[in-house]
Amino acid sequence: MRQNFKNVGVLECTEFRKLIRLYNITFWWCHFRVHMLKVPFKRLSLNAGMSKWNPKLTAEQLLVLRDKHTERPHTGAYLLNKNQGIYHCANCDQPLYSSTTKFDSGCGWPSFYQPVNPDVLTYHKDTSLGTVRIEICCSNCDGHLGHVFEGEGWDKLLSIPKDTRHCVNSCSLNFKTAE
Ligand SMILES: [Zn+2]
Repeated sequence: MRQNFKNVGVLECTEFRKLIRLYNITFWWCHFRVHMLKVPFKRLSLNAGMSKWNPKLTAEQLLVLRDKHTERPHTGAYLLNKNQGIYHCANCDQPLYSSTTKFDSGCGWPSFYQPVNPDVLTYHKDTSLGTVRIEICCSNCDGHLGHVFEGEGWDKLLSIPKDTRHCVNSCSLNFKTAE
């Protein structure tokens, strides 16, 4: 009987060790898997953060696109641009406006009556400067473009299809000539 008890004890001890070993292996494996999964996610999120703002942007473009500043009126590179082509987002290159929808409003910034596609913009209520304005951003990268104004009478004044003025910073745009 005593020997039997001894055997049971040894048996239990061996089983217990096996269980511990299995537990440790499982524990390590789970941690390993979680860690291995975390690494690529960390790299991805780091890359996403780094790629949010194009490294080719100038300090002025970053101030406008990222920090929502406004370039000085009548100074933008595209204010008087009359060439035919497409204006892309200077940060992510998404096409935003066609030169066919550009008009001279005299406001000091490039003006367009509509984007190339409604989906390329997002609209946000802007209460800065003590007024309520509608801010427009690139839907792909969230870069600040400018503001949109309705009901100013441009359709009657200039016979354009819509009474809407997208007042856009040249800084936020990159013009590509039509081929
Ligand atoms: Zn963009």
